Amino acid sequence: MERNYLLLTPGPLSTSDTVRQAMMQDWCTWDKDYNEGIVTPLRRDLLEIAGLDEAKYTTVLLQGSGTYCVEATIGATVRPADRLLILANGAYGQRMARIADYYGINYSLVSLPETELVTGEVARRALEQYPDVTHLAMVHSETTTGLLNRIEEVADVIRGRGLTFIVDAMSSFAGVPIDIDALGIDFLVSSANKCVQGVPGFGFIIARRDRLMQTKGCARSLSLDIYDQWETMERGHGKWRFTSPTHVVRAFYQAMQELKAEGGIAARHRRYVENHRVLVEGMRSLGFQTLLADEAQGCIITSFLYPDAAFDFASFYEQLKARGFVIYPGKISQADTFRIGNIGDVFPDDFRRLIEAVREVLQA
Ligand SMILES: *Cc1c(COP(=O)(O)O)cnc(C)c1O
Repeated sequence: MERNYLLLTPGPLSTSDTVRQAMMQDWCTWDKDYNEGIVTPLRRDLLEIAGLDEAKYTTVLLQGSGTYCVEATIGATVRPADRLLILANGAYGQRMARIADYYGINYSLVSLPETELVTGEVARRALEQYPDVTHLAMVHSETTTGLLNRIEEVADVIRGRGLTFIVDAMSSFAGVPIDIDALGIDFLVSSANKCVQGVPGFGFIIARRDRLMQTKGCARSLSLDIYDQWETMERGHGKWRFTSPTHVVRAFYQAMQELKAEGGIAARHRRYVENHRVLVEGMRSLGFQTLLADEAQGCIITSFLYPDAAFDFASFYEQLKARGFVIYPGKISQADTFRIGNIGDVFPDDFRRLIEAVREVLQA
């Protein structure tokens, strides 16, 4: 089926025809065709593409959007006697603090401006200020702006302190190489509709086994109990607790095969970097400026400043949509921006066509 438009958004994003076609069958959640044939291999594939050892890491798949998995992880890991440190520089970091508020979790929030990176230095100062924290949570790719936070530096700072390290890698996992084990990440959260290029409907948590085992009986929500979900999947060989999003899971399975066929995460990263490069070069040639300095910018999504005070985003958006491209509004308060996503089943030539479309719209 022909596409209605190309989604240049950070998820849901443009998926391949074959991923969408994979949803055209119904699956029985009790049948081993589904559990052993799709879910179990999928969980193994997730660890494999992440380069992880099954003896040390495991996965939990959970119904809902990515936020459900972030909430499930925070809600099950941070106990009443613990203290969570959140290093935030955008809406998704702030959302972690909202989750902690809902749960009545003890937390300390370091709120940076939305254009400033979370670095090792930020973590070091925060740990001096809040020496009693037991957990540290941060976002890798802050989709609010496109910043790629320095998880490697933060990992260096916290190594050996025994902290539980939680990373929201929603928009970076599978699009940016992450050495989860070397960085000592205990819980990494992502979802089906980001860089694996599946459709929306569930998220997943890649967890260190020993840390996940410690969450038994700790969740404050039945539906979001990651230990219980994990145990059911292990015991039932891929059985989900509660209704499984079967079509979405089957599409994700297909997306995973396509990720492997592309050459894995390194190859996908190279394509996204090239998408981003073509986009930024083209937009700059048309007079646009990026919100972020190049050193802080990741390859996932790019924020552009409005070119002038008279710029009408709504009209710009509609005219690009009429030419087959859907872009994203900005999400920050300090500047007028719009965003263009570089992830999904989209390629450098799509961005060359986009630049031509932007040129036409500006000239119209
Ligand atoms: C997409 C995303 C989420 C999850 O958002 P949902 O709307 O719940 O899927 C969380 N964090 C980041 C950084 C994201 O990009």
